[in-house]
Amino acid sequence: MAILTKAIVENSVVVSAIESKDIVNRAIKIHDLSPVAAAAMGRALTMAALMGKEFKNKDDYLTAVIDGKGPLGKITVCADGDGHVKGDIENPAVETAIKSNGHLDVGGAVGCDGTLTVIKNIGLGHPYVGTSRLVSGEIAQDFAYYFADSEQQPCGVTLGVGLNKLRCKSAGGVWVRVMPDCPQEIIDRVETVMYAMDEMSYQFDGSTAEQVIRRFFGEFDLVITESAEVSYKCNCGKRKIDAIVRSLGKDEALQIADEMGFVEVCCHFCGKKYTYDRQAVEKLFK
Ligand SMILES: [Zn+2]
Repeated sequence: MAILTKAIVENSVVVSAIESKDIVNRAIKIHDLSPVAAAAMGRALTMAALMGKEFKNKDDYLTAVIDGKGPLGKITVCADGDGHVKGDIENPAVETAIKSNGHLDVGGAVGCDGTLTVIKNIGLGHPYVGTSRLVSGEIAQDFAYYFADSEQQPCGVTLGVGLNKLRCKSAGGVWVRVMPDCPQEIIDRVETVMYAMDEMSYQFDGSTAEQVIRRFFGEFDLVITESAEVSYKCNCGKRKIDAIVRSLGKDEALQIADEMGFVEVCCHFCGKKYTYDRQAVEKLFK
């Protein structure tokens, strides 16, 4: 279970943090991720969790697609206003490269010749869609640039995933947003703190989100405003999958059922398999 904590600093800066190890480990298990895929997807899921907490309604949800044209292919992450995240990645088994500083080459695997698109459904009848170019493919910088460029929201984002072979041993992220009336002196102090925020996976190793916030912002006037659970959970179900099988068309679906003995649909987000025999397919098209 991951815990997300929010705080207000000096009455003029919003800080959200999440300790997300369990979310990353669930993604590794479902998608059989290579280490570099786990780092990239884990960072993206951590950011989606932070963004989902901003929704006012439980049914609100967002989808973020990172399409860097690198070996990992498209990474898709979703979050709702009820503390759930899920994700999908095109090429989960991509071989891991190490940079000269010993870190995983996440930017190289994601690629940076592409876009980050965020789609938000907040019950308006039409989704809000924002797109920005990728800066580095390292995920945190890409989201920070997206907020500044597409949502006119200057902010700092730092995300980290630490791995021990094929398990995540620590992961987390911090998202810092300055309110419009924030004094320049506070902005300068917060920026100094943000520069010191590296090696995020170590910061969250054995520490809660609240402890990480207090570690960095303990010198400031700090008020913890809320803490909430976030988990990796898919909302697929028979009704959604029925619609996918129907979209094949009756002839195609029956042909697959006859050739294979059944129609099988596997959910990309959780790996759950739904099977339909010929009789079940016929029933769908009645
Ligand atoms: Zn699913």
